[in-house]
Amino acid sequence: MDPCSQPGLMPVDQALERLLAATPVSATVETVPLLQAAGRVLAEAPLAAVDVPPADNSAMDGYAVRCADLSDASESRLPVSQRIAAGCAPQPLQPGTAARIFTGAEIPPGADAVVMQEQVRRDGNAVWLPAGVRAQQNIRPRGQDLRQGRPVLAAGRRLQPADLGVLASVGLAGVPVYRPLKVAVLSTGDELVEPGQPLAAGQIYNSNRYLLAGLLAGLGMQLVDLGRVADTADATEQALRQAAEQADLIISTGGVSVGEEDHVKAAVERLGALELWRIAIKPGKPLAYGQVCGVPFFGLPGNPASALITFWLFTRPCLLKQQGAAPEPPLRMTAQAGFSRSKPIVRQEYLRARLEDGVVQPHGNQSSGMLSSAAWANGLAVIPANSQLVEGEPVEFIPFSELLV
Ligand code: AMP
Ligand code: MG
Repeated sequence: MDPCSQPGLMPVDQALERLLAATPVSATVETVPLLQAAGRVLAEAPLAAVDVPPADNSAMDGYAVRCADLSDASESRLPVSQRIAAGCAPQPLQPGTAARIFTGAEIPPGADAVVMQEQVRRDGNAVWLPAGVRAQQNIRPRGQDLRQGRPVLAAGRRLQPADLGVLASVGLAGVPVYRPLKVAVLSTGDELVEPGQPLAAGQIYNSNRYLLAGLLAGLGMQLVDLGRVADTADATEQALRQAAEQADLIISTGGVSVGEEDHVKAAVERLGALELWRIAIKPGKPLAYGQVCGVPFFGLPGNPASALITFWLFTRPCLLKQQGAAPEPPLRMTAQAGFSRSKPIVRQEYLRARLEDGVVQPHGNQSSGMLSSAAWANGLAVIPANSQLVEGEPVEFIPFSELLV
């Protein structure tokens, strides 16, 4: 059955598309030193201040020569006229001589090849060089890596370690990046107690606060921690107001069902607007989406595994867009299913699973209230809506490493 034919059940891709379309891009830019730029999002494409490498240099320890001074047919003997270590400024190469040179050292003007030292015989202050040396051999040409004046990286890039090295190589000491988003997190539920406190009858520990704090830290965003919120209309409304004053985006968990202890929906509607979407996804109850006093709002399910997966699928891409990052859907791989699925369901399923030796095995307990299966897993196996799967067939797998940053 087509999930779209289920009244009100929205396919995952369509839900994400709508959420992204409604997501604003925050625009506060600051310049930070390179050492503080890891994980930050570039606000502009930086231009190379110099060529990289800035001059022709040697790829080998050996001797810099002019090919015209060498015989094509036999060995040639040339006196050694200078020694060029990395970091030295070379003199022009005297015609009819060779220069001792080391890896990374600048090629002297006039030389057009480097002969590696293993191919050379030393003879007092001279060297015997082989026949057949070709122009440009063992020379790394100026600008082969990057060209002065050209963009080094695109705006919207989330800076990875190699990017920082590239930015340093063109001489940039700092880069313009977006200010990290402030994200408010509130956990609704009278049953919730913080770890470290004793647990009375009827109570459970608050997992979602810590789960979301970890997810936001991985994204380099700033947590506005509003802790636990009691299941009353007043407390919910007050916490949401405070969140809207302090944050660029608000995430709540729990309290969006239709029970009488569920106050989030009504409170958000009083302060802004809210839509409750039934998405064709498992796990995941309705996703609440809207705004509180103009600040984007996500109401995630209370069950921790559902909160985690809906965060990854819907909130994370919106947060990255709002942060100014270029779209970068998580890499998915295809691996062999170590399990079968005989009963198709109308919702797309995301199973907490482990990929080992090319085979995907889901955890035996996929209850949405159970988080230890997510701690055991190393990724999500994706079972498309209305599909069956036979053990040994290919199955799509998203490694957690793709979702955690
Ligand atoms: P709710 O949507 O508020 O009815 O919550 C659904 C389920 O998730 C209930 O079993 C709650 O106890 C549980 N739950 C809600 N919030 C949290 C939380 N922060 N940590 C752990 N479990 C939670
Ligand atoms: Mg609740």
